[in-house]
Amino acid sequence: MYVRLKGTGQVYAIEGPTRFWDCQPIGSRVRCTEVIAQTWPEKQRILDMVSDEGPWERIEAHEFGKTARAASSLGMELFTQRTELTPKKSVPLAPLTTFGVKASAQWFVEACDVSDVREALTWASTHSQPLTVLGGGSNMLLHQDVEGLVLRIAIKGVELVQEDGEHVQVSAGAGEVWHDFVMHTLDQGWGGLENLSLIPGSVGASPMQNIGAYGVEIKDHFAWLDAVNVADGSLKRFGPEECDFGYRESVFKRGQKDRWVIVRVAFNLQRNAPLRMGYGAIEQELQHVPVSDRTARDVSEAVIRIRQSKLPDPSVVGNAGSFFKNPTVSASVAESLLVTYPDMPHFPQLSGDVKLAAGWLIEQAGWKGVSRGTHGVHDKQALVLVNHGGATGAEVWQLAQDVMASVADKFGVHLEPEVNQIGL
Ligand SMILES: Cc1cc2nc3c(=O)[nH]c(=O)nc-3n(C[C@H](O)[C@H](O)[C@H](O)COP(=O)(O)OP(=O)(O)OC[C@H]3O[C@@H](n4cnc5c(N)ncnc54)[C@H](O)[C@@H]3O)c2cc1C
Repeated sequence: MYVRLKGTGQVYAIEGPTRFWDCQPIGSRVRCTEVIAQTWPEKQRILDMVSDEGPWERIEAHEFGKTARAASSLGMELFTQRTELTPKKSVPLAPLTTFGVKASAQWFVEACDVSDVREALTWASTHSQPLTVLGGGSNMLLHQDVEGLVLRIAIKGVELVQEDGEHVQVSAGAGEVWHDFVMHTLDQGWGGLENLSLIPGSVGASPMQNIGAYGVEIKDHFAWLDAVNVADGSLKRFGPEECDFGYRESVFKRGQKDRWVIVRVAFNLQRNAPLRMGYGAIEQELQHVPVSDRTARDVSEAVIRIRQSKLPDPSVVGNAGSFFKNPTVSASVAESLLVTYPDMPHFPQLSGDVKLAAGWLIEQAGWKGVSRGTHGVHDKQALVLVNHGGATGAEVWQLAQDVMASVADKFGVHLEPEVNQIGL
């Protein structure tokens, strides 16, 4: 939204509830200042500017642009005065993570753009504080209070990068909510991400573990990502090869762990993308819709219904989705297990190895629905550990270890956590 202070040449571009540009002609110069509203009076000023009663009047974008451009075309310096990023002390993290276990950040700050990220990195390094990056907090278990600086990524903005009628490339700020982004792409008629509907978390974390569901992983549509180097603040673009995606894996969880802050991710999508309905119960959910009428939106809605019927809603019961990865074993191990457990779900891989269903193994080991009061194993999906309320990260981790030990005991198969363990 653009406004002018009535009767003056002073114009403003309001970019959100906490940020605006203020362009003010001063003699023959124009001074443009970016204001990030962190205090209440500044935030109130934004509310006043957008209300119709104050001394501000709405103007068109081009009127603002005329003044703002004057700042640069006159050869004037474009002042950008940023409010200093000030980390807050002792910020509770339970409301910012889906497991909801009690823990605080020693220091906490939010980044709305790349400059904020760089400023936060500088702060952490000058104060000799370790850095923990936080997105939507839906894939982490906090074992204790987090030492150092927790940097929450709140970079917004979806941009159409290129389009040729059928194919589109679209990028999104790392702080966009993943599901909202998927819904936006479907609203625009861009198919590809529908099977990944309702996965919690942020766009920026999606490449971390190459999120996947219902036969699709983001690597199938990934174009590139931009990330800030934690060591020197430089910005680098990663293509698909450099990300080295695997099953719930990427280079950012392995060799490049903790070295990058992802700030923007781009995807290749398609207007008439082929639908993928052969996984899980999607086909069954859509049986009432004639095959020729089915759309990406139908698939998305089917996925949402299936997920809601199976997975606990983190706003009701704390969890981080699948706590463990599905393990992969050699063909010979799978064969010998199948002799004892002929019903065991197993999925031969191109490599010759065989993937097993961790949920089935945990259920067979007797853990489905087991409760330890404050926490336990979900009663509909044994892959999910839950915080019924008041559990600590250490208690949930003890349960995870007991589950892993008992599956190893019964099947000789080692489970690996999918959830990131913070402060272990
Ligand atoms: C109910 C439920 C269902 C789920 N279902 C699925 C599923 O079907 N498939 C699936 O793959 N996952 C699933 N998940 C896991 C989770 O939603 C995803 O892993 C998601 O991508 C995590 O995003 P986030 O923003 O919450 O990441 P966070 O939990 O905030 O962070 C995860 C890791 O990424 C790092 N990180 C986060 N953002 C950035 C960034 N911008 N730059 C650098 N590092 C960063 C963090 O430091 C941390 O190590 C589920 C979780 C829940 C609670």
